[in-house]
Amino acid sequence: MISDSLARIAPSRTTAITDRAIELRAAGADIISLSVGEPDFATPPHVIAAAKAALDAGDTRYTAVSGTQRLREAAALHFRRDLGIEVPPAQVIVSAGGKQAIFHALLATLNPGDEVLVPSPWWVSYPEIVRFAGAEVIDLPTTAAGGFRITAAQLEAAITPRSRWLLLNSPGNPTGATYPAEELRALGEVLRRHPQVMVLSDDIYAPLRYTPGSHATLAMECPDLAERILTVSGVSKSHAMTGFRIGVAAGPLWLIQAMARLQSHSSGNPASISQAAAVAAFEGPQDFLLDWRERFRARRDMVVAAINGVAGLSCPVPDGAFYCMVDAAPLMARFGDDEALCLHLLEQGVAVVAASAFGGRDGFRISFAADDAKLAEATRRIAKALA
Ligand code: GLU
Repeated sequence: MISDSLARIAPSRTTAITDRAIELRAAGADIISLSVGEPDFATPPHVIAAAKAALDAGDTRYTAVSGTQRLREAAALHFRRDLGIEVPPAQVIVSAGGKQAIFHALLATLNPGDEVLVPSPWWVSYPEIVRFAGAEVIDLPTTAAGGFRITAAQLEAAITPRSRWLLLNSPGNPTGATYPAEELRALGEVLRRHPQVMVLSDDIYAPLRYTPGSHATLAMECPDLAERILTVSGVSKSHAMTGFRIGVAAGPLWLIQAMARLQSHSSGNPASISQAAAVAAFEGPQDFLLDWRERFRARRDMVVAAINGVAGLSCPVPDGAFYCMVDAAPLMARFGDDEALCLHLLEQGVAVVAASAFGGRDGFRISFAADDAKLAEATRRIAKALA
C-alpha cells in the first residue's frame, strides 16, 4: 500500500506525457514533442569540458551535502550578477535540480493545516509538493487578460493566519508571465503586513526574458524582506543542462540549513561531475545567451502567430520562458475537455500538455524549446488536426 502522503499526489503530467511521446516514438510513431520545457540547444562546450576534466581528475566522490564550496561561491556570484541578490555562500544550497530545492524547502517548513498561496496556472509540481507535505493549496487564479499575474489586492484577500508560503514564478511556467519591479514592490507592501508568509521566488527562467530592461525579483526589490525569501535558480534552462540536475537556492541561513538537513537524508550531495560543470556554467562566458534568447524570441513569435491563425485557438505573447499558454475554449464543445483535445493532437503527431495539468482549463501548453523546423511542422499539424 502506498502512503497517505503519496496518495494525495498525482504523477507529474509534464514528465508523463514526455515519457509517453518517447514510448510512441520508440514504437515507430512520428511524434513531435512540445511537452517538456527543455532547451534543444547543445550544452555550451566550456561546460562539457569542465565535466570531462572533473571525471579525468577523479572528481567522483561524495561532496559536502549542500554542494562544494566552489559551486556555492559560483552560485553566490550568479545570484549577485544575474538576480541582484547579495548572499554569502553559506546561504546557498545546491540541489539535484530546482525541483529538489523546492521540494526540500516546502517539506522542511510545512505542517498539516498550513496554507500555501499558489498563483494559477501553476507549474505542475508546486501543488503536488504542497499536498505531499500535508498542507493546503490556496489557488490564486490569474487570467490572460490580467497578464497571468496576481494583484496585490488578490494576495491581501487570500492571506490568512495559516498562510505559510507564497510561490512566485517569474518568468512563469506555463504562461511566461513576468512581474515588473513595481508589481513586485506592491506585493512586498502586502507581505510586510503579514510576517507569517514566506516567499519562494522561482527565478529559473530569468535569463530567458524577452521584455526590455533587466530582470526584477522580489529579493532585489524588497531587500528588507530578504529574511523571508527563498530564491530558486539553476543551470537547466539557461545553459541547456537539464540532465545534469543542478539547481541552486539562496535564502535565510536557518532555511538553507533546514533544507540541507533533509537533503542529507534524501539524495545527499548533488552529482560531483554536475557540480563541476555548473561552476563553469556560472563562472564562464554568458554571451551565448544573447543568441539563444534571440532564437527563442523568434520561435515564440512564430508559434504565437501560427496558433493565433487557427480558428478556435488564441494565445497571448509570453514575456519570458519558452512556453505559450493556448486557450482552446471554443473547441471544448467538440472535444469535451482539454485532455481529450491533447489526446487528439497526440494522435496527430504533436505532444503538448493540457492546461488542466497546470490548474488551468480549456487549453494547452506548448513548449517552444524545439528547433524551428519541428515547431513549423508541429504548428502545421495542430492547424490540420483542428481544421
Ligand atoms: N519544468 C519543465 C516543464 O515544465 C520540466 C519538466 C518538469 O519537471 O515538470 O516542462
